[in-house]
Amino acid sequence: MFVWAYWQTIFTKPMNPLKEFHLSYSDKELLEREDRGESQQEILRRIAKDLPIYTRTNSGAIRFCDRCQLLKPDRCHHCSVCDKCILKMDHHCPWVNNCVGFSNYKFFMLFLAYSLLYCLFITATNLQYFIKFWTAGGKAHFRLREYLNGLPDTQAKFHILFLFFSASMFSVSLASLFIYHCWLVCKNRSTLEAVRSPVFRHGTDKNGFSLGFSKNFRQVFGDEAKYWPIPVFSSLGDGCSFPTCLVNVDPEQPSSPTGSNPANKGAAEGRQFPSKPLRESQSRLLISTPSWSESDSATDKDKKGASNPGMIIENEA
Ligand SMILES: [Zn+2]
Ligand SMILES: [Zn+2]
Repeated sequence: MFVWAYWQTIFTKPMNPLKEFHLSYSDKELLEREDRGESQQEILRRIAKDLPIYTRTNSGAIRFCDRCQLLKPDRCHHCSVCDKCILKMDHHCPWVNNCVGFSNYKFFMLFLAYSLLYCLFITATNLQYFIKFWTAGGKAHFRLREYLNGLPDTQAKFHILFLFFSASMFSVSLASLFIYHCWLVCKNRSTLEAVRSPVFRHGTDKNGFSLGFSKNFRQVFGDEAKYWPIPVFSSLGDGCSFPTCLVNVDPEQPSSPTGSNPANKGAAEGRQFPSKPLRESQSRLLISTPSWSESDSATDKDKKGASNPGMIIENEA
């Protein structure tokens, strides 16, 4: 499992934004002709209208990658090592020589978990010999030598010492990294988002993508529990758009949050970009308003945080 997860983390190609996010040839020309930032933003805003993009730069501008010539989907970042835009980029990991992002984040988590278990197992099984060796003196020493099939003292000592310290050091560092990433999964944040909170239309919101513990976990590990411990891809979504917990409707985005807007190209091509479900605390406010329509009962998938056609959402702004 450890080797499998490690293999998957290394050799799963990070996913790049879909072609809908790339500028068309005419848009590129248009953009090059404009030298003022504001008019360029105007063009980008027009293109972004048809795409499920809800995050902005710190200054409120549309996120655009100059290198890849594309509009960055939410949670996507440009990796300077890979020189590509990576969907839901977490970080570029030198240990696996690969970008950890949407396509392999689950594998990365499993890799951390299994390598931690492995190191803990080595440390635990080695501990008794380590203690005997350094505390009991000659008698244990003799037994240990017997156990190790008569290895010379110095070599045996070195092996025990090296194995114990390397395994315990790795255990400690892996445990801290694993706990940190578990926390990130619970909060539905990437490492980059933990460092710098995502900026939405209405402002910065570090919990913008958080849907509650269970949904956050399922976003990474999927709905079926049997796939959780196995390094096969089971994350939810397409990596380009993510359900957010915000009720604020972006005036520049298609006005309906149902994802069924005709302007939505993705929907027209058979792919439906999920839209915005509600934050738990805010949905309480809406329960009292008679804006739910049971007749449009959402399917299970819809409830998971995608569309809810019967919902009318007020703009808080
Ligand atoms: Zn890029
Ligand atoms: Zn990278």
